[in-house]
Amino acid sequence: MKNADIEKLIQQYPLVKQLIDLQETRWFNPNTTSVAQALPHVGLSAQDVHDAHARLARFAPFLAQAFPETAVSHGIIESEVVPIPAMQRRIGPAVTGELWLKKDSHLPISGSIKARGGIYEVLTHAEKLAIAAGLLSEQDDYGKLLSPTFARFFGQYSIAVGSTGNLGLSIGIISARLGFNVTVHMSADARAWKKAKLRSHGVKVVEYAEDYGVAVEQGRLAAANDANCFFIDDENSRTLFLGYAVAGQRLKDQFTRLGKVVDRAHPLFVYLPCGVGGGPGGVAFGLKLAFGDDVHCIFAEPTHSPCMLLGVYTGLHDGIAVQDLGIDNLTAADGLAVGRASGFVGRAMERLLDGFYTVDDRTLYSLLSWLAQEEGIQLEPSALAGMAGPQQICTDTTYHRLHGFSNSQLTQATHLVWATGGGMVPADEMAQYLATAR
Ligand SMILES: *Cc1c(COP(=O)(O)O)cnc(C)c1O
Repeated sequence: MKNADIEKLIQQYPLVKQLIDLQETRWFNPNTTSVAQALPHVGLSAQDVHDAHARLARFAPFLAQAFPETAVSHGIIESEVVPIPAMQRRIGPAVTGELWLKKDSHLPISGSIKARGGIYEVLTHAEKLAIAAGLLSEQDDYGKLLSPTFARFFGQYSIAVGSTGNLGLSIGIISARLGFNVTVHMSADARAWKKAKLRSHGVKVVEYAEDYGVAVEQGRLAAANDANCFFIDDENSRTLFLGYAVAGQRLKDQFTRLGKVVDRAHPLFVYLPCGVGGGPGGVAFGLKLAFGDDVHCIFAEPTHSPCMLLGVYTGLHDGIAVQDLGIDNLTAADGLAVGRASGFVGRAMERLLDGFYTVDDRTLYSLLSWLAQEEGIQLEPSALAGMAGPQQICTDTTYHRLHGFSNSQLTQATHLVWATGGGMVPADEMAQYLATAR
């Protein structure tokens, strides 16, 4: 982008200057509407999410056998939601209400939020192929997918994906387990242990010295030359999005079992780390369907990769990348190192998201060590982006006025930080994170 164009953009959208200066920035969305008004703009419905629930239930017998760690939950891939009162005390009295953590960091199979969308998309593809070939019907026990017949069948097909690490991990592991030939195109940010783990599962890993955008483009190109190759498009996939969205009703059921109330008097604020947008966008969609207007979703990004804030705030969506403004997209939050947001997610969700903020890597590291000390919960840096949110939401009177929140609502609120990854980080790598924090 030319300097003059950047100046013009800043005149119209002054926060762009703060983003370029890498300052921690927040923007509350003046264009939110009720769920009822926003739904027609999403392009997906409650029925679509319902279908995703049903598909995952069909695959549960397969998953329970293929991944014994899911047997306790009968093949349903879900995470715990827990209160974190010691962390709340550490953050300080500004955060009123209760602070909770959604531990997608500890989801089985791949230890990150990508165990929702990534795995769901591969299962959807496998089901479609097997049904079309007359090998499977929806009424079958999907445990039969473990048989050598299916491994041979899926072995005729390949799957490709571009990733900063965790999506590749999820898609690689599940694809290889089903018998697909799978190639993961990894950006420079991807951690060495994630590549090694994938190779140990028989996944082909192609490494790039460039960022996520390049890895995705190369993956797309490689797949385009092979009619039997399915490219999983993290930037545009409705299927991935629906895989994430089932989290909404699941959380609602968990809260019900815990006797936790969410209603107008007890609002729920959810803080979601955002990379390209599919994960947090899909989860937010599911939450809105489940809890309606009583849930408020806020996206968190690194100061060096504020692609979704930039896209939604300027209305340019995927028409602009942070690099166009000279922002380098280099961050310790490797899961969030994305320069250009999903245009599909930004446009679908822009009426349903209350706000966006950015967080400095140093803040992420402090929060990482606090959570480890106070709660004994160890996460990767990306997963702490949401933890900076509750204080901001609780102290911003402009935001309270925008939504007409009363003191009583704010003191009865639940703040849910979505912990998106870290459960499988090797001990030496975690020790390094903690050392960096010190
Ligand atoms: C991928 C990822 C996210 C964000 O998901 P997107 O779909 O890229 O927005 C957040 N945290 C972690 C740890 C991730 O791996």
